Amino acid sequence: MQEPLISVKNLKKHFDVGKDAVLKAVDGISFDIYPGETFGLVGESGCGKSTAGRTLIRLYDPTDGEVIFNGKNIFTLSRNQMSEVRRNFQMIFQDPYASLNPRMTVLDIISEPLEIHQIYKSKKEMKARVIELLELVGLNDEHAMRFPHEFSGGQRQRIGIARALALNPKFIVCDEPISALDVSIQAQVVNLLKDLQEKLGLTYMFIAHDLSMVRYISDRVGVMYLGHMMELAESEELYDNPLHPYTKALLSAIPIPNPDIQRSRQRIILEGDVPSPINPKEGCRFVDRCSYAIDKCRNVTPEFEEVRPGHFAACHRIGEI
Ligand code: SF4
Repeated sequence: MQEPLISVKNLKKHFDVGKDAVLKAVDGISFDIYPGETFGLVGESGCGKSTAGRTLIRLYDPTDGEVIFNGKNIFTLSRNQMSEVRRNFQMIFQDPYASLNPRMTVLDIISEPLEIHQIYKSKKEMKARVIELLELVGLNDEHAMRFPHEFSGGQRQRIGIARALALNPKFIVCDEPISALDVSIQAQVVNLLKDLQEKLGLTYMFIAHDLSMVRYISDRVGVMYLGHMMELAESEELYDNPLHPYTKALLSAIPIPNPDIQRSRQRIILEGDVPSPINPKEGCRFVDRCSYAIDKCRNVTPEFEEVRPGHFAACHRIGEI
């Protein structure tokens, strides 16, 4: 069995939001990410997936838990030790419009991390690296002296990807990298990410609410709901044999391009939105929206257990439904 690149153990991120009110955005999730894989993390908005991604690479200080990388818990590292880890952990943001400084040229944007980490001695070397990165993401040297507003959404996301690659990272958190883009551009960006993964041996965490795109890019997928991990399995297994009622409901909402199958399939309607994660009660977090709920679900939090090899789920009624 391959060693994980990253092991996440009981990760928690809570926010104090007023008197006796704690927002439990991420509340004790555990999983491994293996070298060279894409780990998809899905769930409705407000389920904690973006906070999980940011806490995992220590953009947020964790409330509890461990993230093991190179045999060390990164949450215990000093500032200096963390600087080396930061080079290996990068992020691609959701909104290519907001994540690039409008007053900086593309050259300055991409060379910023190289300057911070003092990678090159001369400006000339640094510029050559920026051009290499631009070409890697399908742009060219003519783009280097332009400003973000001169580019389309897809091109801006390519600039964001080039910046994330500048320090030769091992692991990139892609936080909804295509959801702000036109549908016609989304597949291009996903294909670019796949090509770069193959060329550079990258490992991704791909956060999204679009389940069909996650299936296409991910090797394994975790499903989050209200700060908890509900289900985790290899992509095909999860999509073909979902076990958890929440995953089943999410999957039943994906349109099927065959009208006969689409008409005859059973849709599970998820009523309402994800409830507030402030001071959540004991028991299953999905209980208020689950049609299979029994009394036990209100009082006892289900364990996240391996139900089949490599297929984990947290539900009291897995064997029955
Ligand atoms: Fe539904 Fe109960 Fe399973 Fe939660 S534990 S998903 S409420 S059946």
